Amino acid sequence: MAKAEVSLEHLFRVFTKPENDDSTLAKIEKHLSDNVSDFLSQHVVTKKTSLEEIEKDFSDASIPSAPEFVSSHAETLLNKLVAHSVNTYSPTFIGHMTSALPYFHLPLSKLLVGLNQNLVKIETSKAFTPLERQTLGMMHKLIYGGEASFYAKYLHSARHSLGAFCSGGTIANITALWVARNKLMGPEGNFRGINVEGLVSAYKHYGVESLGVIASKRGHYSLGKAVDVLGIGRKNLLSLPSPSHILDPKEALEAGKAYQSQGNKLLAIVGIAGTTETGHVDPLSELADVAQELGCWFHVDAAWGGATLFSDTYRDKLKGIERADSVTIDAHKQMYVPMGAGMAIFKNPSDSNSVRHHAQYILREGSKDLGSTTLEGSRNGMAMMLYSSLHIFGRRGYQLLIDKSIELADRFAELIQRNDNFELVTKPTLSILTYRLLPPSLSELSSISSIQQAEINAQLDTLTVSVQKQQREAGKSFVSRTRIEVSQYHNAPITVFRVVLANPLTTEQDLNSILEEQLDFAKQHKIWQNLNLVCDSKIA
Ligand SMILES: *Cc1c(COP(=O)(O)O)cnc(C)c1O
Repeated sequence: MAKAEVSLEHLFRVFTKPENDDSTLAKIEKHLSDNVSDFLSQHVVTKKTSLEEIEKDFSDASIPSAPEFVSSHAETLLNKLVAHSVNTYSPTFIGHMTSALPYFHLPLSKLLVGLNQNLVKIETSKAFTPLERQTLGMMHKLIYGGEASFYAKYLHSARHSLGAFCSGGTIANITALWVARNKLMGPEGNFRGINVEGLVSAYKHYGVESLGVIASKRGHYSLGKAVDVLGIGRKNLLSLPSPSHILDPKEALEAGKAYQSQGNKLLAIVGIAGTTETGHVDPLSELADVAQELGCWFHVDAAWGGATLFSDTYRDKLKGIERADSVTIDAHKQMYVPMGAGMAIFKNPSDSNSVRHHAQYILREGSKDLGSTTLEGSRNGMAMMLYSSLHIFGRRGYQLLIDKSIELADRFAELIQRNDNFELVTKPTLSILTYRLLPPSLSELSSISSIQQAEINAQLDTLTVSVQKQQREAGKSFVSRTRIEVSQYHNAPITVFRVVLANPLTTEQDLNSILEEQLDFAKQHKIWQNLNLVCDSKIA
């Protein structure tokens, strides 16, 4: 292979000049521009290559000393990387929250990368900063519906911010609880605030044993990371059991009171608007009441479900979200923006001042630099992708997409319920549902003794895992799996298929084929065959 020369002249060319039209890079670009799905279907071949096999291509820890031609490198990427990627655009890829993107993001991302603006401060972002502030304001209004005068006053105020744009829901959850923590343990008398004096001094000053956060067991694992990095400690994340998949307000109130009575301070209640595993929405209004009664912060993690607010048909499912002190939303989930687009939105524009940070060379006092209240430092102009999406789809466009996903999930639930070989485990609240294979002979499973149930469920768990893996490896479709406690089986955990319907191109026919494929794999499995026999004699 020809080696590129090691010269500054060559490097200058790499910086400034496109390759010629028939280079590999140009061909990739052209093919992608003509048709993304076609590109993916031709290049992302689901060969049955094991991860171990792939690792061999990525096993050299030494940095090559000589430069390489961009085109020959692009060739390598196609063969080693792209060929073993996952086709998240496939309409039968319905296992995760990462799905197809609208085409316009491809050219727009070139603009984004081409301009390479840094939102940490105005000197490196200029117009991108007001754009990001406006975008945060639009999301704020979607949630809280403030008056025009409110946004006129705060949208571009140097001393306020309506939210923090960040890389995703994880950072957004951390940011929200960080703001809540610093606000709760702010300066008072000689005490200069937890941000200056640290956790130990803050607990001493405020006379508390520890801080706690209440969420249901269905809370996203990023909450665990949040209490960890904020020094609150994982054991103080009170994850309440939720066999009905939502946080019971009565239990939250009791748990909160019990926690407070032990000399602890309750930092926050987290309501989830669209749990990652089953898509359930916590009773947000009731939880807002509970937070009020306990005197703590109310955060709503709407990373997944927040986009439901676009739908006049379904936005009531999130009723009460407007009472949250802070809300997490991921635009890279149901808003079809490329990854790296999360937001923590704050009801009160002054709240983020509890984490405001200034530095002399950057983020000067009184500047409008967004970096002074974000956890992350250098950040790209990803807000532009959201800004554009909000304009290109508009509220009504988003409503169509959201409604379609929810309706398709309902339709899928019906298909599963009508099929004797499957059991719908959790009905969709939004566009997520869970189910599993259940032989027709076991249709009475929920009414037999829990010991017998446990035995059979253990076998069904093995079957579900096996079928899920086989289907994934076959490469035609992808459904994920999880393990959840369900009330229909005495709150014992069972393994289920998990479906996230997000790709607007997924059809009912796709869903039928997925069920058929799963049943075919099951029928070849000993467990399925045995369960059918055993249960024919035992139960029927
Ligand atoms: C996806 C998700 C998160 C985490 O978001 P990332 O963007 O993956 O960091 C947090 N909470 C919920 C409910 C989610 O669905």
